[in-house]
Amino acid sequence: MLDNDFSKRNNNKNMISYFFRRVVLFILALVAVLGWTIAHADIPKKAGTSSNNEQVKLVHQSALTIDSHIDWPIRQVLNPGFDPSVGYKTGLVASGQWDLVRMENGGLDAAFMSIFTPQRQLNDRGYAQAKDLANRMIQRTEQFLLDQPNRIAIALSPADAERLEKVGKRAIFLGMENGYPLGTDIKAVQAFYDQGIRYITLTHSKNNQLGDSSTDKQQQWQGLSPFGEAVVQEMNRLGIMVDVSHVHDDTFWDVIRLSKAPIIASHSNARKVRDVPRNMDDNMLRAIKAKGGVVQLCLLGDYIKAIPKNPERTAALAQLANQQAAWFQGKLNQAEVNDLLKKLQAINDQYPELKPTIADAINHLDHMVSVMGIDHVGIGSDFDGGGGLRNLEDVSQMPNITQELLNRGYTPEEIRKIWGGNLMRVFERALEVAKQMQET
Ligand SMILES: [Zn+2]
Repeated sequence: MLDNDFSKRNNNKNMISYFFRRVVLFILALVAVLGWTIAHADIPKKAGTSSNNEQVKLVHQSALTIDSHIDWPIRQVLNPGFDPSVGYKTGLVASGQWDLVRMENGGLDAAFMSIFTPQRQLNDRGYAQAKDLANRMIQRTEQFLLDQPNRIAIALSPADAERLEKVGKRAIFLGMENGYPLGTDIKAVQAFYDQGIRYITLTHSKNNQLGDSSTDKQQQWQGLSPFGEAVVQEMNRLGIMVDVSHVHDDTFWDVIRLSKAPIIASHSNARKVRDVPRNMDDNMLRAIKAKGGVVQLCLLGDYIKAIPKNPERTAALAQLANQQAAWFQGKLNQAEVNDLLKKLQAINDQYPELKPTIADAINHLDHMVSVMGIDHVGIGSDFDGGGGLRNLEDVSQMPNITQELLNRGYTPEEIRKIWGGNLMRVFERALEVAKQMQET
C-alpha cells in the first residue's frame, strides 16, 4: 500500500485526478449533510448526542408541564414553619422539594398536590381522624393559593390549567392519596369532590376499606371491596380520576373491569425494569393503554433501580427513628421539628443518600413507551414523598427531564404529551364520562 501511494504521488496526472476525486467527494458529503439537516430541522438530536440549553428551554416552555404527584400538603402540616412563597435552597433537608419560587424557576406549570393520610385503624375513629387531617391539608393548600393570587391558583379542570398557563400563573390541582379518609360513607366522595379533589389513589401501602394494596403482608379483599366498587362508580359519576398507583394487582384488574372512564397511575414505574410489587407489569401497562389511560413515571429511587444502602447511613438514621416517628404522628413542636431537620441534614452531609439518575428513570419511560406507545405516559415525581434523583433534587430541576428526553430523540411534540398532554386528555375524558352518566 505504501509503495502504491508513493508511486501515485510521483505521477502528476494521477495526483490531479486524486485531488479532483477528493473535492468531488467532499462536495457530495457536504450536500448530503446539508440535505439531512434541512430535512430534520424540526427533529431534535438523536440518541447519544446532547441537546443545547436553548433548545431545552424552548421545548420546556412550549409544554404545559404537569407533575401529577407532589406530597407537599402533609409536609406542610408536619412543618408549619415552612413558607412556600420563599425560594429555598436546592438539596437541603429543610428545603423540601417544592415551593412556589422553585416551581416557577423549574418551569413547572401545574402540579397535583397529594392529600395524603397515613393509615391507622380501619374503624370509625381512624376514619374521622383521617378525614379531619385531609380537610386541614386541603384548607391549608387553598389558603396558600389565596395568599398568592397573582402567582398561583386552584385548577379543577384541564381548561383551568390552560387558562392559568396563558396568564403566567401556576396551577394547583388536588389529588387524594389513600381513600382512607372516605370512611364508609359513599357521600364522602362527593364531599371531597366539592372541595376540589380530582383523583383518588384508592390505597396506600396497606389494605384499606376500599381494597388491597400491593405492599401489605396479605390480601384482605382479593381486589376491590364491595365499598371500593361503589367508590369507583361514584368517582366515574363525578369525574374524579381513579388512580391505581399502590394498589394490588387484583385491585388493579377489578378497576380495569369496572371503571367506565380511563384510569391513571399517578406515580408508578415498570416492573420489567425494576421488579417490585409497587411497579406495573407489561400486561397492566397494556390494559391501561386499552382503556385510554396514562401511567405517570415516579421518580422515587427504590422503584427505579436497586441501589445498595450505605450501612453507616442506615445506622445513623436508625438512631433518629423514634424522633421521626413522633414527627409523623404530629407530636413535635416547631423547635423540635427544626432540630430533627438539622440532625437529618448532618446525616445527609456525612453519608449522602445513594440515588439513581434521571437516565435510570427514563429507562422506565422508554420501556413503557415501547409497550404502550407515546400517548399513555407522563410524570409524577413523588417529591416531598420520597421522590428525587441524583440530578433531579426538586422542582427547580424539572428542565433536566426535558433535556434527557431530547437527548434520547423524543420530539418536542412527544415531550409535550409526556409533560401533561396525555394526562389532560385522560382528565378530559373522565369529565365527559361523568357528564354522560349524569345525563342518563
Ligand atoms: Zn405514593
